[in-house]
Amino acid sequence: MEAFFEKLYKGTLKDFFAFTAEALAHNKKQFIVTANPEAFILGAKDCDLEKLLLDKETVVIADGIGVIKGADILGISVPERIPGVELAEHLLSCGNKLQKNIYLLGAKKEVLEALCEKIKSQYKNLSIAGCCDGYVEDKDAVFEEIKKLSPDIILVALGMPFQEKLIYKHLNGFDKGIFVGVGGSFDVLSGCKKRAPQFFIKHNIEWLYRILKEPKRIKRFYNNNIKFLFEVKKLKSQKSGK
Ligand code: UDP
Repeated sequence: MEAFFEKLYKGTLKDFFAFTAEALAHNKKQFIVTANPEAFILGAKDCDLEKLLLDKETVVIADGIGVIKGADILGISVPERIPGVELAEHLLSCGNKLQKNIYLLGAKKEVLEALCEKIKSQYKNLSIAGCCDGYVEDKDAVFEEIKKLSPDIILVALGMPFQEKLIYKHLNGFDKGIFVGVGGSFDVLSGCKKRAPQFFIKHNIEWLYRILKEPKRIKRFYNNNIKFLFEVKKLKSQKSGK
């Protein structure tokens, strides 16, 4: 699991946003994984996920605070979170400035429609190359369609790790495009779901807000954060022979 931490992007959010703006402006191909502890836990057990996380062409950013804390335990310095939802917003805004186009795959039909409306009204220079909700059966066929359109930005909101595996499976068929698996971001960006208030975001306790809103998330939180950090501590002790 340590290799996942070593692979993390070590710059600030501002640096990363400059990097993605540049990649978009120059029509580069870039796959970005927004990692939370769950990604690393699954990656340690799932070869396909491990491969894509460690691929030198993939950029992995720390979305969850648990990833930052885990890196810290291992003595790896990651300055701050780069939340997937903020990256998605940044790409919409850069795409708008650069007059690029976007493909949106994922979320419920009504969420996707609300997001498309928002893009049409708030990001008038960003064209929607196409979109598809996340509940169609054959997602590989959707990707074949996306290949034909060759969009500049491809956001896939199907939940981790399905969205990452799907992108990775088809990535070779593309010459350009900024690809990001954005989890539940369409729900937030469309306005269908509220993000945590600024206080929670500022203090890195967005997870607490989510638990308060959806108490059933507590088990997932325990497994993917508390247990995760114990695992990382164990790893650290093994390394230092304690
Ligand atoms: N989703 C989807 N198709 C599916 C399952 C999920 O489009 O078959 C969408 C779901 O509507 C939501 C997103 O994937 O918009 C996943 O959100 P969640 O918050 O569970 O993901 P996380 O951010 O925790 O990875």
